Amino acid sequence: MKAQYDVVIVGAGPAGLSAAIFLANNGINPIVLERGVYPGSKNMFGGVVYGQILNKIIPNYLDTVPIERLITKRRISFLSTDSSFSFEHFDDSHRLPPYNGFTVMRPAFDKWLATEAEKAGAKIYNGVTVSGVKYVNNIVLLEIDNGSEHISANTLIAADGVNSVIARKGGFRSSFSEKEVSLGVKETLYLPKNEIDKRFKLEGNEGIANEFVGFSMNGVNGGGFLYTNYDSISIGIIAQIASLKKYAISPAELLENFKGHKFIGPMIKGARTAEYSAHLIPEGGYKALPKLVGKRTILAGDAAGFVLNTGINLEGVNYAIASGIAAGKTIHNAYLKNDFTDASFSYYSKYLDEYNVLNNLKMFKNAGNIINNPRLHRLYPDLLNSVVKFMFNGNENKKIRYRHVLHKYYVKRIGYKNLLKDVYNVIKGLF
Ligand SMILES: Cc1cc2nc3c(=O)[nH]c(=O)nc-3n(C[C@H](O)[C@H](O)[C@H](O)COP(=O)(O)OP(=O)(O)OC[C@H]3O[C@@H](n4cnc5c(N)ncnc54)[C@H](O)[C@@H]3O)c2cc1C
Repeated sequence: MKAQYDVVIVGAGPAGLSAAIFLANNGINPIVLERGVYPGSKNMFGGVVYGQILNKIIPNYLDTVPIERLITKRRISFLSTDSSFSFEHFDDSHRLPPYNGFTVMRPAFDKWLATEAEKAGAKIYNGVTVSGVKYVNNIVLLEIDNGSEHISANTLIAADGVNSVIARKGGFRSSFSEKEVSLGVKETLYLPKNEIDKRFKLEGNEGIANEFVGFSMNGVNGGGFLYTNYDSISIGIIAQIASLKKYAISPAELLENFKGHKFIGPMIKGARTAEYSAHLIPEGGYKALPKLVGKRTILAGDAAGFVLNTGINLEGVNYAIASGIAAGKTIHNAYLKNDFTDASFSYYSKYLDEYNVLNNLKMFKNAGNIINNPRLHRLYPDLLNSVVKFMFNGNENKKIRYRHVLHKYYVKRIGYKNLLKDVYNVIKGLF
């Protein structure tokens, strides 16, 4: 490697590779340092990419992106011990380009993005772990593999994910707190394509994204997910670290509970485990954002905490791509003006908003009050199922008005004060 680079990007995930493609497309060839043996080798996620942002850097991305299935059905299910209640949405237009969302496997997706970055002119070094950063006389000094080597750079993009070494050692933030981080545990289960189609009523390359609230989490803040791939299913749980500790339960146990629920069991019956993986997610949202720029350095993707979790949407890859592009634009602009001051780098916020990163996070900054409300995980799914069971019950001779059912099941058990508080938080968080 040479003595000093114009732009070094740490991390070849969606954020780092998107920054690399933007810069290389605009005449600045960056280097990307990736600790994995190849981009994507260490990466996992639930499975759905809301990928339209990709057309800003790869206009014909739909011709080559390795899609497993298109997401044409979305379902949210509330689980109690032995029942479930779901909302399902199908939209025919989601079968058509540019598609609302699609499932991918991260090793294939990240590898594809890396090939695009190399085609554009970026150089990727795999198997290189950045262990520290220092700033000396306007030069960024990166420590590699615990000091066995050093690299110097004029500018730096930290795209090294939720545990970002650059963010922590560069003084941008300390580690996220246990309330701001969740652990995702996922199993990939092989099942023949025709069996998946039959079980989920899908055709061709259609797929479903199903999220779950309630029973299986044993009260822990978080939820379950199930996404269909071409001939496999991604199934997992996401649990807040602070809440896991409080309830002293392991994520593996929660995943087993979830898979064993009577509503889930038949969906995955006979499927063979292909892979088991775990990863952290920064879920603090807008309120937990760190300092985003300074000292010729920009934080992008999970390193900056750009994940939107509203309880209805869990989106990180699209924000990683968008922030990678915005970081690339900021550095491109700095080179055009030959201005590498913090003032020049502060344009990053403006570029982030061109892709609705900061303003979306800001809009849903209070969603944490909903997703971390213990009643959402311990009480509401049970009550919802009780009420719906009552409504669908054909054996009652004497019917009761629904308002009395709601009063009996909801208001009495939750209490007026809590109910009003929860309704207020939902309105404030989402509407
Ligand atoms: C269980 C789970 C489910 C999720 N589901 C979804 C979903 O369905 N849809 C969605 O949009 N988002 C989802 N997300 C969030 C999404 O995965 C992330 O927001 C996204 O991957 C962030 O991209 P990134 O490039 O910032 O970071 P990452 O994807 O984490 O990439 C960081 C890269 O940096 C490398 N790296 C890290 N440290 C170093 C170092 N010191 N030196 C060199 N290289 C380093 C890593 O190997 C990695 O390649 C999910 C996350 C999890 C954990």
